[in-house]
Amino acid sequence: MSDDFYCDNVLSGKIDVNKVHETDNVLAYHHTRPFWRTHIVVIPKRHISSLLTLESSDDALFMELFEVIRKVADSVVAEKGAARVLTNLGDYQDSKHLHFHVYSGDRVQK
Ligand SMILES: [Zn+2]
Repeated sequence: MSDDFYCDNVLSGKIDVNKVHETDNVLAYHHTRPFWRTHIVVIPKRHISSLLTLESSDDALFMELFEVIRKVADSVVAEKGAARVLTNLGDYQDSKHLHFHVYSGDRVQK
């Protein structure tokens, strides 16, 4: 199995996703196998492996990414009253493409 679900399946268009927000360089969509009742994933469209591999040349992209995270989290908080923003690193990171989870509510899986 590939360790980059996002490049291989989402950004390639292989699977359809339910988009929440999109900019030129960033995509936010409802997780295809949600772990929480509300579970949105935010990814850069260009491949970046993780938060730890970001470089200063990625600053503009990172600002754009965080602006989308902020908007998505803002609407989840407005709707649900609470949200968390999380990114996994190292062995905790299943797919080696930078992604942030924005989620709220009960855990529904795992
Ligand atoms: Zn990738």
